Amino acid sequence: MAERQLNVTLIAHTPDAEKVIAMASRTCYSAMDLEGLSRKADRANNAAYIRGVLASGHLSVAEHASFTFGMEGVSRTLLAQITRHRLASFSVQSQRYVSQEGEEVFDFVMPPRIRALGPKAQERFLAQMATMQAWYNEWMQDLGQDAAEDARFVLPGAAATRIVMTMNARELLHFFSLRMCNRAQWEIRELAWRMYELVLPLAPAVFENAGPGCARGACTEGKRSCGKADEVRRNLKERGRTE
Ligand SMILES: Cc1cc2nc3c(=O)[nH]c(=O)nc-3n(C[C@H](O)[C@H](O)[C@H](O)COP(=O)(O)OP(=O)(O)OC[C@H]3O[C@@H](n4cnc5c(N)ncnc54)[C@H](O)[C@@H]3O)c2cc1C
Repeated sequence: MAERQLNVTLIAHTPDAEKVIAMASRTCYSAMDLEGLSRKADRANNAAYIRGVLASGHLSVAEHASFTFGMEGVSRTLLAQITRHRLASFSVQSQRYVSQEGEEVFDFVMPPRIRALGPKAQERFLAQMATMQAWYNEWMQDLGQDAAEDARFVLPGAAATRIVMTMNARELLHFFSLRMCNRAQWEIRELAWRMYELVLPLAPAVFENAGPGCARGACTEGKRSCGKADEVRRNLKERGRTE
């Protein structure tokens, strides 16, 4: 095992998310029966309709579309942050049941700023990981049955994990607004941008204005603004938006 890079995939999603969201919205505002609503959603301009509904603040309709992501090469530090999002569902590789014993070094994530310091710094970081692996192995040998549940206490925030996470589109919009912002920490920010790239083509009318506050207008961060709104908007164009 060794250093890991972020890998995020879309495992599954609501098929035709925009149709589902449009149909749910029209249910609120139309006298049509379900068959009529479904037919209308098949032939109507759902994108324009969804834009109007979401712009009005009627965001609950976006909860009917959900997206399941697989992510690996992410740190336990990221895990602590992403699981703060209470409306998501999570399954996480267990450090109790998946032992790291005997490895030269467990899977880990190296922060880019340490990597950028060059080979010596990278070697130092790797040696630190190896030291913690040695501590882990010692406890595995000393503790006997179910040792992993306690040996893991000496593993660092850098230890890599694997997560399956499901969010609905409303929660994704919220997640993107917080975590694609330059004020978010680098690892969860990169993850959020990758997730955004995966979902945007599937429901463009839902996600076309996704991103930090500056994606939709002036920066919302006040004195804490990164001052890079133009750069963020350029990134949105390059990494997702087509207009
Ligand atoms: C830049 C940044 C820095 C941060 N720094 C810290 C920090 O230093 N310390 C720290 O502890 N956390 C920190 N956080 C985490 C932050 O406080 C939130 O826990 C995290 O962003 C999840 O956001 P949320 O609660 O809005 O989202 P979710 O849990 O995804 O919830 C979505 C929305 O649902 C609603 N909601 C959910 N649960 C409830 C509820 N129980 N009652 C009422 N409404 C609810 C809210 O409107 C909420 O915004 C930071 C986050 C960011 C982006």
